Amino acid sequence: MATTPPVDTQSVNARAKGSATATRRPSATVGGRQLEHQSVVSAPERLVVVGMGMAAHGLCKRLNQIDALKHYQVTVIGKEPTIAYDRVNLSQLFTGRAPEDLLLADQAWYDERKIDVVTSRTIRQIDCDEQTLTDDHEQQYGYDKLVIATGSSAFVPPIDGIDSQGVFVYRTLNDLAEIRRYVEERRDKQNPLSTMRGGVIGGGLLGLEAAQVLQHWVWRLTFSKWLPA
Ligand SMILES: Cc1cc2nc3c(=O)[nH]c(=O)nc-3n(C[C@H](O)[C@H](O)[C@H](O)COP(=O)(O)OP(=O)(O)OC[C@H]3O[C@@H](n4cnc5c(N)ncnc54)[C@H](O)[C@@H]3O)c2cc1C
Repeated sequence: MATTPPVDTQSVNARAKGSATATRRPSATVGGRQLEHQSVVSAPERLVVVGMGMAAHGLCKRLNQIDALKHYQVTVIGKEPTIAYDRVNLSQLFTGRAPEDLLLADQAWYDERKIDVVTSRTIRQIDCDEQTLTDDHEQQYGYDKLVIATGSSAFVPPIDGIDSQGVFVYRTLNDLAEIRRYVEERRDKQNPLSTMRGGVIGGGLLGLEAAQVLQHWVWRLTFSKWLPA
C-alpha cells in the first residue's frame, strides 16, 4: 500500500509570496500595446515536471513520440539521486541486474532531446501566482506549464519502534542499497552461512517481493501481514 508523501503535499500547496525572483516570462509589447503571450513568443514554453519516476519518464517519452518536444523546454526535477528507473522490476537487482540496467533511458536520451534533468532536489514550494518552484537548495525554476508526477511513498504503520535502526521500507533503489549494506555489515564474515533473521511486515505483492529478496541473504524469515485496527 502506498500514500502520497505528506511533506510533498504540503509543499505543493505552499506559497512563497514575496520570495520568488522574477523568473516568470515577461509579457511582450509592440508599440506600447501588450500582446497575448502565446501569439508573439516563438520560444518553446517551459514545461516543468516535478518527480522523476516512471510517470515523468512516460510523459517525456510520449512528448518525444508525438514530436511535441519542439513546443516545450522540458525540465524534470526529482528528489532521488537517479534518473527514472523501472521501479516495478526493482527486485531484479538481486538476480544479477545492476541499477543501471533498470534505467528507463540513459542520460544521453534526455540530453539528445534537450530535456533538462535535475536529480537529488526536492521541490518544497510552488507559487502558482509567480509560476515558480523552489527546491530544497533554494533554487528557483520558472514554468509556463507544470506537471506534478510525485507518485507515492511507502505506507509505514504507526508501530512502536518503527523508527529503529534496521527497519526499512521497500520502494527505491536507495532503500535496497541500504538494506543490503545493513545485512552485509552484520553478516558473520568468518561464517557467511550463519543464520541471520529478517522480518517482513505486509503480505501483499511488495511484501512477497521483499521476502524473496531477503531470502538471498537471511536464512530465517518471519513474514507477517499488518492490518490496521
Ligand atoms: C518493488 C515494487 C514493485 C512494483 N510492482 C508493480 C507492478 O507489478 N505493477 C504495477 O502496476 N505497479 C507496481 N509497483 C508500483 C509502481 O512502481 C508505481 O505505481 C510507479 O512507480 C508509479 O510511478 P510514478 O512515476 O507515478 O511515481 P514514483 O515511481 O513514486 O515516482 C515519483 C518520483 O517523484 C519523486 N518526488 C516525490 N516528491 C517530490 C518532490 N517534492 N520533488 C521532487 N521529486 C519528488 C519521488 O522521489 C519519486 O522518485 C511496484 C512498486 C515497487 C516499489
